[in-house]
Parts: sequence; C-alpha cells; structure tokens
Amino acid sequence: MLTIEHLTHQLKSLRLNHTAAQAESLLSMAEENELSYLQFADSLVKHELEARNKKKLESNRRGAGFPVEKHLEEFDYRFQTSITKRQVNQLLDFSFVDNRANLIFIGPPGVGKTHLAIGIGLKAIDAGYKVLFSTALGLVELLELAEIKGELKKKITQLCKYDLLIIDELGYLPMNKQSNHNLFQLINAVYEFRSVILTTNKEFNHWGEFFIDENVAVPIVDRLIHHSKIFMLGGESYRLKSRLG
Ligand code: ADP
Ligand code: MG
Repeated sequence: MLTIEHLTHQLKSLRLNHTAAQAESLLSMAEENELSYLQFADSLVKHELEARNKKKLESNRRGAGFPVEKHLEEFDYRFQTSITKRQVNQLLDFSFVDNRANLIFIGPPGVGKTHLAIGIGLKAIDAGYKVLFSTALGLVELLELAEIKGELKKKITQLCKYDLLIIDELGYLPMNKQSNHNLFQLINAVYEFRSVILTTNKEFNHWGEFFIDENVAVPIVDRLIHHSKIFMLGGESYRLKSRLG
C-alpha cells in the first residue's frame, strides 16, 4: 500500500530532506487547494529549493564572522551626510562584486565605516555571495599563523573562495615587516579576482605609517584603489552623539 511514510522514506533516500519533513502538510495543502498535478509537483520542488537556499544563507551568515549585525536599514543618513542613501543603494546591485571592484571607506572613528561595511556585507549574503569579515589585525594574525605553519599559500587560496572580503580598521596599529609581506601576498591574490571592502582611519598618503615598509605600502594601495569606489566619511562620531544624547 502506498503510504505517506513510504513516500517520506523515498524522498529521504533522494536526500530531499526538507520536502520529506513536510511531505504530509504539502500533500494536504494540495488536496485542500485542489492543485493541479503540475502545481503540486512544482510546490514540492519549490519547497526543497527554498529551504536549501535559506539554509545556505544562514550558514553563509554564520561563516562571515560579523562581530555584530548592523543593518543598512538602521543607518541614519541625516547624521552621516558624506554619503547618500542613493549611493549606498546603488552598490546593492553588487555589480562591484561581479566586476571585482573594491569599496574603501575612509574616515575618523565613529562615523559609521564598520556599520556600512557590515550592512553591505549582510545584503551581499542575501544576494547569494560568500562574504568574510575580519579586522585587519585579525587577518594579519591569521596570515602570520599560516605562514609559521608553512601554509600561507593554502590560507590565501581559502580566503580567495569568498566573493567579498571585508577588511576592517586598517591603520590602527603598525605592522611588522613579515605582516606587511603576508598582507601584500593576499591583496595581490585577490586583485582583479575578488572584491574587498576596506575601512580605514588613514588617508592613503599616511599608509606608510602602518606599513612599516614603503615598498609594500605603495603596491598595496595601488592594487586596492585601481578598481575602487572611495568614500570619504566625515562628521562627528556617532558614539559621541549617542553618549551626549
Ligand atoms: P567606525 O567604524 O567609523 O569607527 P562604526 O560604524 O563602528 O564607526 O559606528 C559606531 C557606532 O555608531 C556603531 O554602533 C554604529 O552602528 C553607530 N553608527 C555610526 N554611524 C551611524 C549612522 N549614521 N546611523 C546609525 N548608526 C550609526
Ligand atoms: Mg570601525
């Protein structure tokens, strides 16, 4: 006899697990709404695809390593007037990712650089891209560890699997020579191959201060800005504003 258990079992053996879990309710919904055979077949496939996509996005969001979730919807453009909502919205077709271009947010502390970077990153994930967020310091440490283990190349290859790399807070601390070199290797590998969103408190002519080695600072800046949109953010610190009420 044909039973729902039998159907569920078969769906599972085809690894259609989401559909298997909902087989009974999908079936009764089809009966209730008098779906055509075609509509019913479509509802089964659609259910599986949607559930898989949702799972993938959740896993990409977890894997992105955001320190906090900051949404663009919460960004106040009346406070930060150096960038407009239209400019940000224009980025959300993600042609910059498809074109392997970079975004660079430059400005003093508290003006919303990290908020914008995370907000755009979250939208990129929703659009199906793989994103990794890291502070510059965290990235340098990651590369250093890999380098010590003789696995720098492997680590860089891993990092190149992301469509979009967000490097936050470049320039807060000076780096040693080896870190400069490792970072250059990474930037070189992603150049014209992957997209980077970079936030920094230093303008380009001051990058020599944290890249100990000018010989490294110049080619890194060169590659990062070659295909990039640069946003200079100004104004007061939002942190200060909320502190003062
Ligand atoms: P930055 O990275 O430039 O130092 P952040 O993006 O970390 O600054 O912003 C500091 C805090 O202020 C965060 O909690 C952020 O969400 C908030 N913030 C900054 N600018 C805005 C803004 N224009 N609208 C809403 N919140 C903001
Ligand atoms: Mg920041």
